[in-house]
Amino acid sequence: MLPLPTRRAVLAAGACLPILRFPEARAAAPADRVGAFTVTPLRDGLFPLEPSMIPGADSEAGRALLAQAGLPPSGPSPEPVNAFLIRRGAWHGLLDAGCGTVFGPGFDRVTAALAAEGLRPDQIETVWLTHLHADHAGGLLTGDGRARFAHAELVLQEREAAYWSDAGARSRAPSAMGLFFDTAQAVLAAYAGRVRRVSGTAELAPGVSFLPLPGHTPGHAGVLIEDGPERLLIWGDILHSRLLQVPHPDWTVIWDADPAEAIATRRRIFDRAASEGLAVTGMHLATRCRIERAGAGYELVSAAP
Ligand SMILES: [Zn+2]
Repeated sequence: MLPLPTRRAVLAAGACLPILRFPEARAAAPADRVGAFTVTPLRDGLFPLEPSMIPGADSEAGRALLAQAGLPPSGPSPEPVNAFLIRRGAWHGLLDAGCGTVFGPGFDRVTAALAAEGLRPDQIETVWLTHLHADHAGGLLTGDGRARFAHAELVLQEREAAYWSDAGARSRAPSAMGLFFDTAQAVLAAYAGRVRRVSGTAELAPGVSFLPLPGHTPGHAGVLIEDGPERLLIWGDILHSRLLQVPHPDWTVIWDADPAEAIATRRRIFDRAASEGLAVTGMHLATRCRIERAGAGYELVSAAP
């Protein structure tokens, strides 16, 4: 496994983002309708993804994809970090919470995005988590480590909470993952007494259910929103780079806890979404898409409502 980038390297890369060429770099997409649900992406910031974070990109095929996109071989490509607000009438829930202050300036915009939707953090009653990585759970904490959502119940997969609480798992993980373990444990401690652990395809609310997608982390899960014939899968971190991992689903990202399982899961959900014509979006995708088979890989096509 490659070393994780330091915060300084991330910020330095961010300073030279080729911003304007990429739809990912623009403002968050508008809200989607899924039957009676409104699903609003909340843009926390932009993450400069370097090809070295996806080792498969260090190849002729990877360099060709980067060149076609107008990127130098070392990238970076700007990738969004999203949370989502899911509403139906007066009911609402938050899915993930962005980075908070964990990765320094440039992120922590979820609270402002919620304010633009007329909501304060203390009005959020439920936060669902796709997984406990810091770019999804860091925003659950204020800069001084308190629970940002004073009245929210936190809902996540049992396996996810167990993994990040496991001293053995931490000792086996690369040392650079220490920040991720620290953040996950701080979140679980700050929300102690109001963490609900569920297993499998748990219903989170009528029409909203978890879909386990393990591999990136043991309890990584997407959320499927259904109302009648309309469906949207928010697939969490099934991919970090649409440019690289859609045509090459076997290319893992260095943060995968179990790369082989992450590949198998990505292939399985790509295949299902293609077969079912399922609309998808994610924490590191700019817009709602559909996925189609293309040669040995896949391609994303716009599924704007
Ligand atoms: Zn992520």
